[in-house]
Amino acid sequence: MTKSNPSTSRRLRVTGLELPVGDDLDRVRSLALEHLGLAPAELLHMRLIRKSLDLRGRRRGRAARWIVHVDVEIPLEAGGNKLERLIKSGKVKPAPASASLEVADLHDDFRTSPARQAVVVGSGPGGVFAALTLALAGVQVKVLERGAEISERSSLLAKFHNSRVVNPESNLLYGEGGAGTYSDGKLYTRVVDPLERNVLQELVRAGAREDILWEARAHIGTDRLHSVLPALRERLIELGVEFLWNTRFEGLVTEAGNDRKLKGVRTSAGELPCDGLVLAIGHSAEDTWRSLEKEGVHFAAKPFQLGVRIEHPQDLINDLRHGLGPEAKLLGAASYNLVNKKTERVQGAHSFCMCPGGKIVASIHSDGMLCTNGMSNSTHASPWANSAVVTTYTEEDFGPGAFAAVEFRNKLERAFFDAGGGDFSAPAQRIPDFLVGRETKNPGKTSYTFGAVPGRLHELLPASGVAALRAALWRFNEMLEGFSGEQGLMVGLESRSSGPVRIPRDKETRVAEGWANLFPVGEGAGYAGGIMSAALDGVHSAQAFLRHGVMS
Ligand SMILES: Cc1cc2nc3c(=O)[nH]c(=O)nc-3n(C[C@H](O)[C@H](O)[C@H](O)COP(=O)(O)OP(=O)(O)OC[C@H]3O[C@@H](n4cnc5c(N)ncnc54)[C@H](O)[C@@H]3O)c2cc1C
Repeated sequence: MTKSNPSTSRRLRVTGLELPVGDDLDRVRSLALEHLGLAPAELLHMRLIRKSLDLRGRRRGRAARWIVHVDVEIPLEAGGNKLERLIKSGKVKPAPASASLEVADLHDDFRTSPARQAVVVGSGPGGVFAALTLALAGVQVKVLERGAEISERSSLLAKFHNSRVVNPESNLLYGEGGAGTYSDGKLYTRVVDPLERNVLQELVRAGAREDILWEARAHIGTDRLHSVLPALRERLIELGVEFLWNTRFEGLVTEAGNDRKLKGVRTSAGELPCDGLVLAIGHSAEDTWRSLEKEGVHFAAKPFQLGVRIEHPQDLINDLRHGLGPEAKLLGAASYNLVNKKTERVQGAHSFCMCPGGKIVASIHSDGMLCTNGMSNSTHASPWANSAVVTTYTEEDFGPGAFAAVEFRNKLERAFFDAGGGDFSAPAQRIPDFLVGRETKNPGKTSYTFGAVPGRLHELLPASGVAALRAALWRFNEMLEGFSGEQGLMVGLESRSSGPVRIPRDKETRVAEGWANLFPVGEGAGYAGGIMSAALDGVHSAQAFLRHGVMS
């Protein structure tokens, strides 16, 4: 929507328009007019905000429908009683003000002095969006990335898939785009943030489909991400950002007389000066966490989630979710989002990172450990559906100490690696066998890169996790009858859905506790759990730096 003029027009958010499945999205305009009681000429602009699938009431024969939210701009004098009633009842509200990645109230440090320099470590969404925000304000930014730029990274990953020998610097977790480069590219988040649209707009500008701006289950897909990420990189380079690939961040350089203020960083390619450092290193760089701790950066263990990947034939999930009616064909590959709440006796568990029409991948950066995750291409065309089913582990499970959760995670990843035979094959078990504690003799077909071997997941996982997953699987089968039947295969371990540490930071300035100009962001710092939340965290920290300046 173009910029409106508040003296002649007003912008309103209209929610809950119902569009039958199969109807063209263009019909939303007439639905909005009818809903608001407006004449066509009174609608100056309309922008789609959200489109989500509503399957409620299907068992009672109610048809599936899209629920659509839009923002409209109308002349101040437009609208009659119907509109005023909707506004009074709160069903139609003023549209929220639009946000910007650019900071209007820059600190003097960024307005009056020669261009400031920032180093960003990590080219995942947290790092890239922090770099973009800083570069838009004229800061000279260098992005350090231990892994390779995307085409080289993909060749190295293919080598790992053929040889089963891991490259510890460039792999499925490390390299251009970070951990989500070989993912479903899901962009939805539980975080409500006015800057979400700005992040999505940057992705559209870099070549993602426009519908990510409104689809409730927006995703890009690995195939498209591989053209979006280089285009995003080019945009940053045009703004003056320099990328240093295959370059590891190795430590901090502090000012003489102030060992809490950084003047630079040590890297595998020598020292670099900086006025501010954004650390966006993701949920796996244990070596970097440990060396930072030695240099005085505080770390705290945090509750994190762990479980297994569950895979079904996509056709089964389509039938369970969309049914066999004529509209099912129009809905594409079905997804699900299942939750079993915590009770006094057992932890809660939920599905996470569901990849319709996807594949299970080995989410690995070092030898001797096994971790799975999911990916898919933009068309969701594979015959497999997978998701993580995870439960939360706390200090009660992993004990005290900043890195206790990391050690707990490592121990389980090693146990799964060994149980898989030490070649990245994954231990797997059919759901009914897991429920009764019996090994599956032949796990059968799976999309997992290195294949599955019989595994006793009920013995490999901690007892509290086994109880939580069993309770959840019984419940999920009530929600989707057949989910926990023979066709459901559990593949483990899924251990990196969330980070196990947090770097405490100031709420407002976002600097790490005790430091002047060190900004921990994203999943590795404990402030994000996905692509969008990491990107937003990067933007907010960069904006805080631009507003508060270089502290002493
Ligand atoms: C297979 C897979 C599928 C996923 N699917 C989705 C999905 O569909 N949707 C979603 O929202 N999330 C998904 N996620 C999670 C998502 O990718 C992460 O939450 C997100 O990437 C975190 O962003 P980040 O910027 O904090 O860190 P990361 O993306 O992990 O980036 C950190 C970067 O820092 C670099 N780095 C680390 N240490 C150093 C160092 N010492 N020097 C230099 N560089 C360093 C790493 O190489 C890495 O590239 C998926 C993750 C995986 C592994």
